[in-house]
Amino acid sequence: MEIANATGRYAPSPTGTLHLGNLRTALLAWLFARSQGARFLVRIDDLDTGRVRPGVAEQQLADLAALGLDWDGPVVRQSERRELYDDAIARLDEGGQLYPCYCTRAEIRQAASAPHGSLPEGAYPGTCRELTAAGRAEREAAGRPPALRLRADGASVAFTDRLLGRVEGVVDDLVVRRNDGAPAYNLAVVVDDTAQGVREVVRGADLAETTPRQLHVAARLGLPAPGYAHVPLVLGADGARLAKRHGSVTLAERIAAGQSPAEVRAQLARSVGLAAPQETPALDELLHRFDPLTLPTEPMVLA
Ligand code: GLU
Repeated sequence: MEIANATGRYAPSPTGTLHLGNLRTALLAWLFARSQGARFLVRIDDLDTGRVRPGVAEQQLADLAALGLDWDGPVVRQSERRELYDDAIARLDEGGQLYPCYCTRAEIRQAASAPHGSLPEGAYPGTCRELTAAGRAEREAAGRPPALRLRADGASVAFTDRLLGRVEGVVDDLVVRRNDGAPAYNLAVVVDDTAQGVREVVRGADLAETTPRQLHVAARLGLPAPGYAHVPLVLGADGARLAKRHGSVTLAERIAAGQSPAEVRAQLARSVGLAAPQETPALDELLHRFDPLTLPTEPMVLA
């Protein structure tokens, strides 16, 4: 597969230690970029200050390095780039595309559980979209800080994923600024990927459903859409998404159990058909073997 200007990235949120699923996504993102001779960037998505844990980002970077992954330029942290997101939000606001939303989580859950035409389950049904000035003032007076939502008018957005094929989703009016003032993930990621010249987004399949939203944000900001490859997740033996309770799931835990980082990398490589049983190929060899077209699209189940 030839991907012109395939600058790629891995963008973990420093909310917990990377598990094997995260590490596998990082390895694949690295292989996608480096096998094209492209740049590979690492960005720390640390805007959700309530969930960020100190020291975790450093540990994540150390784990990537232990697997042999390298990246170009300094690691970028979203918390240091607030102006970029604020500018983007201001541009959307000037275009009259935003409205304040005073709904609490519970209210949204309740409202979203009622059927709303073509909107997917859990989508924001537009409760605050048509609030009058008086309605807003009343909510402001009650001391509710608003989030800012981007109008989507139920737009349906499709893209062609390199692994999943055509993915289509109806976009709800998504939050671009949270009610605690932080720029929302769906906005920041789009702004950053463009600003950093990322043209190839390789990330976990769990994020595929939010991609139509990000494409909507990009379109409204007049930004180009990158290519996407949503790679399969790693599941525990019970079929649930990998988590602590599945046992030894982080690099440190694997090392404590006697595996070397190269063996962990080989195990991940094996799960995507890049290594034979018992084999521990060098990273260069993996690069040589890597072909995105032969990647499985089924999740890996950790035995
Ligand atoms: N920071 C996001 C996460 O860890 C991923 C961002 C992305 O790859 O778009 O879930």
